[in-house]
Amino acid sequence: MTIEERLSEVRERIAKTADRSKRDEGSVELVAVSKTFDADAIRPVIACGQRVFGENRVQEAQAKWPELKAETAGIDLHLIGPLQSNKAADAVALFDVIETVDREKIARALAEEMKRQDRHLRCYVQVNTGLEPQKAGIEPEKTAEFVTLCRDELGLQIEGLMCIPPVDENPGPHFALLAKIAKDCGVERLSMGMSGDFETAIEFGATSVRVGSAIFGAR
Ligand SMILES: *Cc1c(COP(=O)(O)O)cnc(C)c1O
Repeated sequence: MTIEERLSEVRERIAKTADRSKRDEGSVELVAVSKTFDADAIRPVIACGQRVFGENRVQEAQAKWPELKAETAGIDLHLIGPLQSNKAADAVALFDVIETVDREKIARALAEEMKRQDRHLRCYVQVNTGLEPQKAGIEPEKTAEFVTLCRDELGLQIEGLMCIPPVDENPGPHFALLAKIAKDCGVERLSMGMSGDFETAIEFGATSVRVGSAIFGAR
């Protein structure tokens, strides 16, 4: 299969699952995760009309996206990987959405940079739904308080929550938990679901699915 065929198959599966879940197809955004693929692999996907992309490393994204963004208007670039404070300035300059606001220190660094650069990015709070010690994210019980800090004290535009369920567990309960926390926090959007489980995520209310290998191939 070509990359164009894989992309249209993913779009079709999203549409079918949305339909089955009595949801509008347009209510699920596809974030095409292009990490590890270079600009030449990404261009055909842009040519198919895809505009929303995800990258997990600031430095890697800096090597390809300034050029790709200059070629095509309307690219919406999401940071979906962990962010260090010393990279906050670069991230704010390049990305359009930060999906991994996961601790107070980075929230403060981002808020400061956004003010300095006068670039006000949309943000998601990453929630560690599986309470995995090695994984980034706010604990479920502390999410509401953190969202309030980000919004009211720091002025960040928190539009959603994001999670990465533990690899060895059924993802459904994690997606359900994220949806419940979002409702309790008054947050609208849910970024959840990857190549292996995006249909399940849509059934649980995902408004963004982050799909890499099902589009670009194995990494
Ligand atoms: C790599 C990555 C994805 C995409 O994973 P695939 O299994 O290739 O679809 C989604 N979300 C995050 C946070 C990632 O790092």
